[in-house]
Amino acid sequence: MSMRIVDLANQQRGPACLAGDALVSYLYDECTFEERQRVEGHLTTCGACAAEVDALAGARMQLSSWTPPDAPLGFRIAAAT
Ligand SMILES: [Zn+2]
Repeated sequence: MSMRIVDLANQQRGPACLAGDALVSYLYDECTFEERQRVEGHLTTCGACAAEVDALAGARMQLSSWTPPDAPLGFRIAAAT
């Protein structure tokens, strides 16, 4: 199983591959229907891009679970009133 992940990660993204921007838009649901179709179609055939999306999705999850550290930051995060 881990070997397969390594294989995917080592695949080169080729000229037919999608730009990183397109993958990010897809991940954040900011792309048009046509773009989404194009990305999904490409991901089914391209392990390199699928691995890239996986990596981006992992980074996104880390960000959303990020909380400010307890140490003083020099500023406060306050809700807008
Ligand atoms: Zn690709």
